[in-house]
Amino acid sequence: MKTVDLVVPCYNEEEVIETFYRETDKVVSQINGYRFYYILIDDGSKDRTFIKFKELAKNHPEIKYISFSRNFGKESAIYAGLRHSASDYVIVMDADLQHPPSMIPAMLEGIEEGYDCVAAMRADRKGESKIRSFFSSQFYKLSNWMSDVKMAKGAVDFRIMTRQMVDSVLQLSEVQRFSKGLFMWVGYNTKWIPYENVERTMGTTKWSFWGLFKYAIDGITSFSVTPLRMVSALGFFICIVAFIYIIITLTQTLIFGIDVPGYVTLLCAVLFLGGIIEFSLGILGEYISRIYVETKKRPIYIVRQTNIASDRNPKSDSKEES
Ligand code: UDP
Ligand code: MG
Repeated sequence: MKTVDLVVPCYNEEEVIETFYRETDKVVSQINGYRFYYILIDDGSKDRTFIKFKELAKNHPEIKYISFSRNFGKESAIYAGLRHSASDYVIVMDADLQHPPSMIPAMLEGIEEGYDCVAAMRADRKGESKIRSFFSSQFYKLSNWMSDVKMAKGAVDFRIMTRQMVDSVLQLSEVQRFSKGLFMWVGYNTKWIPYENVERTMGTTKWSFWGLFKYAIDGITSFSVTPLRMVSALGFFICIVAFIYIIITLTQTLIFGIDVPGYVTLLCAVLFLGGIIEFSLGILGEYISRIYVETKKRPIYIVRQTNIASDRNPKSDSKEES
């Protein structure tokens, strides 16, 4: 019998996790030919999420859990889940039932058709604020324009992958992870299944606007150096303009003598160039900070407690759990 791991990152999901299990179990218990396991990751929740995990695991042996020593973020939680997975297939999904478990049979069908990955894709953005939809679609446009790794618009972190693909994703060991891009970067054949956006009914979203903004910057800087090239291009362009302007001013001065007024021109030039320099430094800084964080080689997560035997996945090393 083929096995499937359901990797579920959870941060302050005490209200949701039982319902999640109940609803998902309803679906997966109807599927023949596969054995399902849950890998629930408590991403340093401040509520009773972890206690709920332990209660569930007591009654349901298929539930495995990992608890982090603090909040490391959803990306780290997904990584930990993948690292601890040992099944033939791995499904990554959210705990808040915004990723409908009813799609799991269709996802498995896609795998049986021979795809390496079957991913859900939001057909609409119902229930999301207009501003967030706007920024999100701008992000995809910008990111796909800048990067060779094209990200699918509406893609969510709800997908099934084969063991082979999971192992490839795990080979990418960067600390600042942007899963959406990493899943695209490794390649393989992906089938997209559209679904209607489901509003979160319980608990609250963990994303602030600022959080999403940082996420977008991470997405772009992880997969593209185009911003750096743009800085060079801009610098080159300004040099040319400046050179032409210098020639003109010099000639004017030589022919017509020294022209004292020029305060506005001077101020504009100084402020404009100052702005451009600051902005360029900021872009450089983004990349330098990424190098800085990566070179420290800190673990992606720290496990405080788990019921997963360390030999469950002999392939994975557990270096990062030190
Ligand atoms: N999540 C997490 N760590 C975090 C933030 C979120 O593990 O630091 C989990 C959260 O519990 C949920 C999933 O990631 O299962 C998606 O979070 P959320 O529903 O808040 O995001 P949205 O659906 O609004 O994108
Ligand atoms: Mg959600």
